[in-house]
Amino acid sequence: MSDPRGVSTIDDSIAQAARVLGSASRVLVITGAGMSADSGMPTYRGVGGLYEEQSTADGVAIEEALSGPMFERDPALTWKYIAQIESACRGARPNAGHHAIVDLADHVEHLCVVTQNVDGLHRAAGTRELIEMHGNIHRLFCIRCGQSRTVPDYSRLMQWPPRCGRCNGLERPAVVLFEEMLPSSALERYQRELAGGFDVVLMIGTTAVFEYIAAPVRAAASGQGTAIEINPADTPVTALCDIKCPGPAADVVPAIVQQLETRGF
Ligand SMILES: [Zn+2]
Repeated sequence: MSDPRGVSTIDDSIAQAARVLGSASRVLVITGAGMSADSGMPTYRGVGGLYEEQSTADGVAIEEALSGPMFERDPALTWKYIAQIESACRGARPNAGHHAIVDLADHVEHLCVVTQNVDGLHRAAGTRELIEMHGNIHRLFCIRCGQSRTVPDYSRLMQWPPRCGRCNGLERPAVVLFEEMLPSSALERYQRELAGGFDVVLMIGTTAVFEYIAAPVRAAASGQGTAIEINPADTPVTALCDIKCPGPAADVVPAIVQQLETRGF
């Protein structure tokens, strides 16, 4: 991608991002669906790829099938569509972008990843400071006694819908369904992180529709740090960002880390 002067604009933005990150001590990374797109995943929120018509075989909108009220009314129906999503994601592996974030953490004093994704790929890549704001599709918990467990996938669940091994209560995945609140434990941890301040807010593959995502970007824009966006397309917060790297996460994040390492920023 070149502008009329023959200068590669994506390379310029990658160099700028590497320079800023190289001198940062506290970095907040916020990731969304675009982060996992390069792992070949359909995404939980971006269910359009799975349900083009927005309506399920059961005659309800996918947002309704995957909602908290539907789970209470008809858990088997919600489970049916969660299982389809889990099945489509099965076998997905962290991509070069997930791994590059782990490498980036070695170059700064503190790096925290906040993700909208429920696929567990940041955890699989080895990110330690991680807030999975919308939960993790591989973690199940009993709605009666609260006992939880983590499963590699849903292929070996003994019962369907799955039930608790301790009290036989119904289990559900530890993900935020439509019309449900974000988990208070994740929100509180996020607030503590924000209170510590950040030199750089790095948004990757998120459309920033949630206020909790847009707020730290606005804070950076008002002079409290540098906001960087990595996304092939523009988003509602692009105009607020100091640096925009227009490209896919799996290409851009490794390129930034490579520059940071080779140039010694
Ligand atoms: Zn139980």
